[in-house]
Amino acid sequence: ATKPNVLILGAGYGGMVTATKITKQLGHNDANVTLVSKHNYHYQTTWLHEPAAGTLHHDRTRMPIDNVIDRNKINFIQDEVVKINKEDNTVSLKENEDVEYDYLVTALGAVPETFGVPGVFEHSFNKWTVNGAREMKEHIEYMFARYHNEEDPKDDLLTFIVAGAGFTGIEFIGELSERVPDLCKEYDIPKNKVKMYVIEAAPTALPGFDPELVEYAMNLLENRGVEFKINMPISEVKEDGVVLKDGEEIKSATVVWATGVRGNPVIEESGFENMRGRVKVDPDLRAPGHDNIFIIGDCSLVINEEADRPYPPTAQIAMQQAETVAKNLRALIKGEQLSEFTPDIKGTVASLGGKEAIGVVGNKKLFGTSANFMKKMIDNRYLWILGGIGLTLKKGKNPF
Ligand code: FAD
Ligand code: NAD
Repeated sequence: ATKPNVLILGAGYGGMVTATKITKQLGHNDANVTLVSKHNYHYQTTWLHEPAAGTLHHDRTRMPIDNVIDRNKINFIQDEVVKINKEDNTVSLKENEDVEYDYLVTALGAVPETFGVPGVFEHSFNKWTVNGAREMKEHIEYMFARYHNEEDPKDDLLTFIVAGAGFTGIEFIGELSERVPDLCKEYDIPKNKVKMYVIEAAPTALPGFDPELVEYAMNLLENRGVEFKINMPISEVKEDGVVLKDGEEIKSATVVWATGVRGNPVIEESGFENMRGRVKVDPDLRAPGHDNIFIIGDCSLVINEEADRPYPPTAQIAMQQAETVAKNLRALIKGEQLSEFTPDIKGTVASLGGKEAIGVVGNKKLFGTSANFMKKMIDNRYLWILGGIGLTLKKGKNPF
């Protein structure tokens, strides 16, 4: 019999872990495995706030795909996925011919959610990708470099706005606020010229997170010069700043958008039933009504029955789903029983720049250097899962 074709879309947390685990589940003669992704490198979305603010080189967050997957076992196509044609089991790509599949794993990640706020795509930095991070970093430095070259330097050149005090917004401002003193020194700019705002629609920063840790984070960031505007949705982004719900305008040459995510537009484009681009998957992680299509990571939606709402989309869940999917692909191919996915949420740790962080692990609250240590260990653990000790030593972070 001919070997079935397994096709994996997206080389992020979900796709990479599926690819590496599947080669352990299946032998060479069991299936042809193909991975398709936009770039010839894998990048760590969870580290991107660092290169975006310029506290870590972007190359530290990415690695050539060939260095991680075994090309003798997995075929790689660098291309952009345009559409999943689920009726004929093919995927349309931007440059290459359609690819056929017998089993599909969709792990294309997320795109920014704007909630209909006008001007986001035109006037803000919103791409949490390597290319997006490089652009943010260069732009921030350029604002500092421009300042003394303007006849009448406008303060808004040095006003930085972060939209959304979720984990992405908080982690980004943590890095930026940590770097600002160095930038001021480098570009001969008095520190009081720099303004940093975090603007949040909900009644608190990090809604739903431990209030004591939220307070710790806000105090620390305020001490670094960050001003919070809480309970204040941004209603428009303009070329020269933002408009708030109460009508106030804040002028700024730099608006960084971090108000949440929705699933990759390929999901909607391909006609899957979805909520904000995310498919509510069956317990075995297949798309309802599609026996041969798995959807994982930020494109999937898994309900936390206890809380009666979806789990927030995280790398933690994407990687755990990938392990289940690798097993379930094997089960489908071998005609065995599929397993159900049960998330095992270990906790949440967020960096605040420098050696600062906050987190909850199990039922333990962490802050300061112990949280920072834990955050670095979590970052390293992922490298370990993906590529063992070799990759961890090569790309890992020093936790001390
Ligand atoms: P991703 O890892 O984003 O991968 C998607 C892949 O698909 C990418 O390689 C992309 O290039 C590729 N792709 C996209 N579109 C196409 C296309 N059309 N064609 C081909 N390829 C395509 N979660 C945590 O658990 N812990 C954290 O500490 C954490 N920190 C974060 C920090 C930041 C700054 C951000 C932005 C997010 C963070 N998250 C964190 C969330 C986490 O990054 C995501 O939940 C996770 O990346 C989802 O994994 P994924 O595999 O679905 O998508
Ligand atoms: P999020 O949805 O967690 O937070 C977005 C925030 O923006 C919310 O607090 C929301 O109230 C606010 N907001 C929405 N519209 C707004 C508006 N018009 N004006 C002002 N504020 C507005 O999104 P995120 O921070 O991008 O995170 C995305 C996912 O990635 C989440 O699941 C998160 O848990 C995960 N993540 C985890 C970590 C970590 O564990 N360290 C870090 C980053 C992201």
